[in-house]
Amino acid sequence: MGNNTEGLLFAHHSFDNHEQVVFCTDKETGLKAIIGIHDTTLGPALGGTRMWNYASEQDALTDVLRLSRGMTYKAAITGLDLGGGKAVIIGDAKTEKTDALMRKFASYVHSLSGRYITAEDMGMETRDMDIVHEVTPYVTGISEALGGAGNPSPVTAYGVFMGLKAATKYRFGSDDLTGKRVLVQGIGHVGEELVRQLVAEGAEVIISDINAVRLQEVSTKYNVAIHDDMNTLYELDVDIYAPCAMGATINDTTLAVLKAKVIAGAANNQLEDEVKHGKVLRDKNIAYAPDFLINAGGIINVYAEIAKFTREEIMEKTANIYNTTLEIFALADEKNIATQAAAIAIAESRIQAKRNEKNIVL
Ligand code: NAD
Repeated sequence: MGNNTEGLLFAHHSFDNHEQVVFCTDKETGLKAIIGIHDTTLGPALGGTRMWNYASEQDALTDVLRLSRGMTYKAAITGLDLGGGKAVIIGDAKTEKTDALMRKFASYVHSLSGRYITAEDMGMETRDMDIVHEVTPYVTGISEALGGAGNPSPVTAYGVFMGLKAATKYRFGSDDLTGKRVLVQGIGHVGEELVRQLVAEGAEVIISDINAVRLQEVSTKYNVAIHDDMNTLYELDVDIYAPCAMGATINDTTLAVLKAKVIAGAANNQLEDEVKHGKVLRDKNIAYAPDFLINAGGIINVYAEIAKFTREEIMEKTANIYNTTLEIFALADEKNIATQAAAIAIAESRIQAKRNEKNIVL
């Protein structure tokens, strides 16, 4: 992928041979949405719907293209029979989201006849998925009362924890977290649960968030330190950095000062430039656990609704993130490539094998 931003879609810098991109509009409800289906070789494209007040339609398109591609890799490396998709609705979820708009959006999802299955993402709640479910069966993350699998965040946090432990074992020779200094950035649904697990294993946790109230709450609850100076955050003398807020925090600026030897967190798209920064991480001997691999607990949880997994099966598959993370580190060493590249290679090889099986020639 190059860097030019010319061209609406096929020459877009984040276009990666996406199978289908659907622009959905409705004058009456004000709906403006884009559904991105990246690849359905392994199964229907599953991925959440994000409602965000994008600065421009270009930003919304970039987001859906990047996120849907990420979902393809996440499902493939996790061994799920799913493809990658994602949807974005342009608008402020707090003021512009209505039941009528969600129903209209759901009718577009339905029109794809199951090629795309939606779920919750930023700006969405379980209640919204329940409304979508009134219009189409192609939705996951509905309430437990309607047969849904419940809140995915604790499962996501468990997968991140297992990936973090595997990366620690690789980098420090043991996955014992006793006394390890861990910075958790973002103590929301996933971050707080990760803090709980880290503290239970004897790690020395430092938390950071833009929400001062949450910081106090979580600090008191788990007796952990707060770091509230954003200017010095990345210079902290920690062993492990767990990004659990926003993406692109691993970039030229942060890599110049980062002291952590392990990076493992829940945030999507942590590497600002996955090729360039993946390589820098390798050169600096920082063990980076690829985000789309270790934050897959949430998708395992929603996939359980389709595959009818039991709770034990969900936790078992999520725990396996530990083994897959170690395999990725081993492959990266063997091929002398970044862990991100190794993870993508494994995901792509699974997709290619399925293509060969189906005799699909591209
Ligand atoms: P959340 O909204 O519950 O929590 C995010 C937290 O990050 C909030 O407390 C927020 O105040 C904080 N935050 C936002 N900007 C920040 C900044 N600049 N610096 C520090 N803190 C900041 O979200 P979540 O569900 O916990 O998800 C966390 C991350 O993990 C997101 O990037 C999400 O996309 C990703 N993720 C979540 C799941 C899941 O199951 N919830 C699954 C896969 C990936």
